[in-house]
Amino acid sequence: MKFFTDVYYEPGILDYPLGKKLKEDFSDLPWIEIDNHNRIEEMTKRPNSDFPKMKRYLIVGTRKTHRYTENQKISDYLVPFTSSGCTAMCLYCYLVCNYNKCAYLRLFVNREQMMERLIRTSTKSAEPQTFEIGSNSDLVLENQITENLQWVIPAFAREGRGHITFPTKFASVRPLLDLPHQGKTIFRMSVNPQEIIETIELGTSPLVQRIQAVNDMCEAGYPIGILIAPIILTTGWKKQYLELIDQLADQLTEKAKKSMTIEMIFMTYSYVQNAINKEAFPEAPDLYDKQNMSGGGRGKYRYKKDLRLEAEPILTDYVRIRLPEADLVYVC
Ligand code: SF4
Repeated sequence: MKFFTDVYYEPGILDYPLGKKLKEDFSDLPWIEIDNHNRIEEMTKRPNSDFPKMKRYLIVGTRKTHRYTENQKISDYLVPFTSSGCTAMCLYCYLVCNYNKCAYLRLFVNREQMMERLIRTSTKSAEPQTFEIGSNSDLVLENQITENLQWVIPAFAREGRGHITFPTKFASVRPLLDLPHQGKTIFRMSVNPQEIIETIELGTSPLVQRIQAVNDMCEAGYPIGILIAPIILTTGWKKQYLELIDQLADQLTEKAKKSMTIEMIFMTYSYVQNAINKEAFPEAPDLYDKQNMSGGGRGKYRYKKDLRLEAEPILTDYVRIRLPEADLVYVC
């Protein structure tokens, strides 16, 4: 991947096969030693305007905390997995709330340890569980660098119980199509109107490619889902989102429409994102809508109740009309 300019690494990564492979793959870049991927002091001191430049650093370390968090949505547990952060720059990215301007891509090379724990937890559970392994990053993007999914999906199919799942905004699924997955990996694609992708989801795949990826994964036998998320209620939202739902109805295969789940999530925005975006992307659309948003605690803004009450039935009714066989699992 020609995108990165520098690699920051913990020396211990060279004890792992993946660490050695990355060192070879990126041997033409400067490698800068760090003590801990969580505390790179020179990064925290950088101005917000450096955010896009910092996104071009690749950080390589080992994951030290492995605590699973219970989840009540599409999965039962959120699993800290093989990466955090991302190279893309969606202006609303939830990871910025956690990592602030250090939301660059971090790869964790101790994948055997994470996989072993995942399989052990899945087989010990009384009932089959679903494990969300992509809540901290975008694993399809990560896979372009590490090829981890080619290893994780068959390994879970062989030894795991229940399901693993991850959402993505990237369409590069070709390496996944022929894997022996046994239906145990649920692939979920996040979509937005193309205009929003171009202006707000910077560095992600175009909508038509995302739809094609869903069709391909469905044809390859994977359970699939669509996230219409995050729904952004800027001027013209009604037309944009109804057209998006039309596009899904017209371009997804019959097989995909019959078997897929749909999640709909309205955007939340935060003080931290607003501060970074203002300095890093002064020309970008302003996602903070003073008139239609209110504080939801801990520096977060949500759309006001009146606007939500207007938008939600319009969009969910239209989903039920145009995608009647899909399973609309939740709206939040
Ligand atoms: S693709 Fe996902 S993880 Fe990456 S910047 Fe966008 S929202 Fe964040």
